[in-house]
Amino acid sequence: MSKYILSLDQGTTSSRAIIYNQDAMPIAIAQKEFQQFFPKPGWVEHDPEEIWESQLEVAKEAIQKAGILPNQLAGLGITNQRETTVVWNKTSGKPVHNAIVWQDRRTSDYCSTLIEKGLEPTFTKKTGLVLDAYFSGTKINWILNNVDEAKKLAKTGELAFGTIDSWLIWKLTKGKSHVTDVTNASRTLLFNIHSLTWDKELAEILNVPISILPEVMESSGSLAVTDKDVLGAEIPIAGIAGDQQAALFGQMCIEPGMAKCTYGTGCFLVMNIGNTPTPSQNKLLTTIGWKINGQTTYALEGSVFVGGAIIQWLRDGLSFFDSSDESEALATNVTNTDGVVFVPALAGLGAPYWDSTARGTILGITRGTTKAHITRAALESICFQVEDVLSTMSKDKGSPLTELRIDGGATANDFMVQFQSDISQLEVVRPVDLETTALGAAYLAGLGVGLWTIEELKSKWQKDRSFTPQMKPKEVETRLNLWLKAIERSKNWFTYEA
Ligand code: ADP
Repeated sequence: MSKYILSLDQGTTSSRAIIYNQDAMPIAIAQKEFQQFFPKPGWVEHDPEEIWESQLEVAKEAIQKAGILPNQLAGLGITNQRETTVVWNKTSGKPVHNAIVWQDRRTSDYCSTLIEKGLEPTFTKKTGLVLDAYFSGTKINWILNNVDEAKKLAKTGELAFGTIDSWLIWKLTKGKSHVTDVTNASRTLLFNIHSLTWDKELAEILNVPISILPEVMESSGSLAVTDKDVLGAEIPIAGIAGDQQAALFGQMCIEPGMAKCTYGTGCFLVMNIGNTPTPSQNKLLTTIGWKINGQTTYALEGSVFVGGAIIQWLRDGLSFFDSSDESEALATNVTNTDGVVFVPALAGLGAPYWDSTARGTILGITRGTTKAHITRAALESICFQVEDVLSTMSKDKGSPLTELRIDGGATANDFMVQFQSDISQLEVVRPVDLETTALGAAYLAGLGVGLWTIEELKSKWQKDRSFTPQMKPKEVETRLNLWLKAIERSKNWFTYEA
C-alpha cells in the first residue's frame, strides 16, 4: 500500500494542509483563512478553537482530495506561525484567553522595563534572542497577570502553555501529549539554547511556572501519535518546526553556510551555522534550526520589514500598476534607475540598522524620472536590504555565504532575483516547489518515520533555476556605496515629539 505524508502548515492568516506522496511531491492541498482580532491598537489575537477547527477541516479535506485512506498516512508534520501564545485549562481543554499573536505589541513597555533593569544580556546570552514583545515569554506573563482563571489554574497545576504546534498536538492527541520541539521552544525567551532546557532563572524573571511549559522534543522522530477518532487513524506525529526553520529544512539548507530567504510581505533570512550557537555581534538572532538524532543545528536569523510590500504600496497606494507581477515589465522598460535610489523604510529599518525613526525616501529624482525608474529602484531596494542582512550574517559567521535559496511570492520576479544575484555576487537558486514551509515539515516527518533518508531528501529537492552574478564587481561597489549613502539620508527622520 502506498504511503503518504500529511503536512499541516498553520500560518498567521490561514491554515493549510498538503499531502505528499512517497516521492515528496504534493498531490492535494486545502486551505482556510481564519479571523484576525485587533482589540486595541497594537494588539493582535486569534481564537485558538478557530485555529484548531480550520486546521482539522483542511486536513480532512486534503485527505479526501488526495483520494487516500487515513491509514495510508505514514506520518504527520506540523509547521506553524511562531511565538504566538496559547494558554489553556488542561482539565477542560479550553483556552483561558485568545491566542496572543507574534505581531502583538502589548508587552513592549514590560520589555522596556526589563531592559532598563539591565536584564537583556542575560536573555540574549541564554536564548540568542533580544528582549522584545515579539517572543512568547512576556505574552505568557501578560496572561498570568491579567486572566484570573489562569492565575488560579497555575496554582492547581491545571494550566498549560504552548505555541501553536503544542496546541494542535494537544488537540490531535486528545490531551495525551503536551509537547513542543526545540525550534518553537527557542522562540519563547524561556529556553536555554545551549543546555536545551527550560531556564529556571529566565522563568523566574518572567514569573512563568516551569510546570505549565510543554516537554521539548527533537524536530523529527517519534514525537506523538494522533488519537484514532480525530483523523480516522493513529498517525505518528513525526516532524515539528516553526515556519522559518521548516523553510530552511524544506530548502535543504543542511550544510553550514547555506541560507534561505523568503520574499513575501517582508523578507526572512535564515542561515545554517552548524552545531555551535555562535552569538551575533550585529543584533541578528541566534536560534535553533532543528534537532535530529541527538544533533542540534543552529541558525542565524534576520528580517527585512518591508520587502514585497513596497510593490504592494506602488500598486495600491500610488496606482502604478494593477497587479504586482506587472512591476517586472515596467522595471525592465528602462535599462537602469537613472540614479534613483529608493529606501523602503516605511516602518523604520530593521537589521542591521535598527532605526525605528527612519522613514522611506526616494532620492535622485530628476525631470526625466518615470514610474519605470521608481519601480525598478523599488525592486532593487528589496535586494539591497537583503544584501545588508546577508553581509551581516557573513561577518558574524566569519566566512561568505556559498549560495542563497529563495522562495515566497515575490520570487516570481526574474528581474528582482537576477539583481539579488548581481548585488550579492552570489548564486541564487529558486526551487521547483515554492511551498518550502509545508515541504520542510513533510521532510522532517518522512525522515522521522523512516520513509526517507537525508540523502534521499537531498536528491528530492529540485531546483527550478539558478541565477548567477552578471554585474561587474566595480559596478556592485558603486551601487552599494550609493545605497549606503541613501540609507544614511533615511535615518533619524521621524520624531515622536514633532
Ligand atoms: P505573504 O506570505 O507575506 O503574504 P507572499 O509570499 O504571498 O507574501 O508574497 C506576496 C508579496 O510579494 C506581496 O507583497 C506582493 O506585492 C509581492 N509580489 C508578488 N508578486 C510579485 C512580483 N511578480 N514582483 C514583485 N513583487 C511581487
